[in-house]
Amino acid sequence: MAKLYVVATPIGNLLDISLRALRILKEADLILSEDTRITKKLLERYNISKPTVSYHQYSRLSKVSYILSQLKRGKNLALVSDAGTPGISDPGSKLIEEAVKKLGNQVEIIPIPGPSAITTALSISGFPADKFLFLGFPPSKKKRNKFFEEVVNSKYTVVFYESPHRILKTLEEFNVILNVSEESLRKQLVLCRELTKKFEIIYRGDIKETINQLKEDKIRGEFVVIVGRK
Ligand code: SAM
Repeated sequence: MAKLYVVATPIGNLLDISLRALRILKEADLILSEDTRITKKLLERYNISKPTVSYHQYSRLSKVSYILSQLKRGKNLALVSDAGTPGISDPGSKLIEEAVKKLGNQVEIIPIPGPSAITTALSISGFPADKFLFLGFPPSKKKRNKFFEEVVNSKYTVVFYESPHRILKTLEEFNVILNVSEESLRKQLVLCRELTKKFEIIYRGDIKETINQLKEDKIRGEFVVIVGRK
């Protein structure tokens, strides 16, 4: 039976890949990759030479049909994203939905676990994570206030992602919403920047302290924001 492996890859440090992931990438007939240039760097690091085909959020239906046809022919495919676990704020779910719908039990869909920025950040947060709420990226325009209200009102630790150029704007808007709520004094932040990379920094403090630190350091990078309670 054809296999579609969903393979987690490092979120920065290329050593953070599992032995099983390497074996699957070596043995797959074809690697489906969000950005083939990024995947090639990983493959080169481990001397893996495999054909890659791009598959991303905006892939057309014809690309999905091509991938399904490969599976129908019994090929084993490995799906990777640029970083972390496919399908987590990354491409993957549509392809899997189509594979399940159109190929049913002609294909086995197999997870190959590994890093994700969510669990990596939560693991060092010090906040309870037996239950948590993950909200992906804040919306870029409309519904931002609603997003921040959801963060403020959550009973659980909240995790969300933010991109380098929007992190300060997002924290400042969040601060405005927090200040009009009773929760403002109780919320604590852990801000994880560039996890597993050379310039990894973990900021801990309340929202104002965190904003001031970010401004002082004048830094950018990829961020995971975790909001907990004192
Ligand atoms: N699928 C990925 C995962 O499992 O973590 C997430 C992909 S999402 C498109 C990319 C976002 O994840 C970044 O904008 C950032 O918020 C977060 N992220 C990914 N790698 C990170 C890292 N090394 N340090 C901090 N945040 C990271």
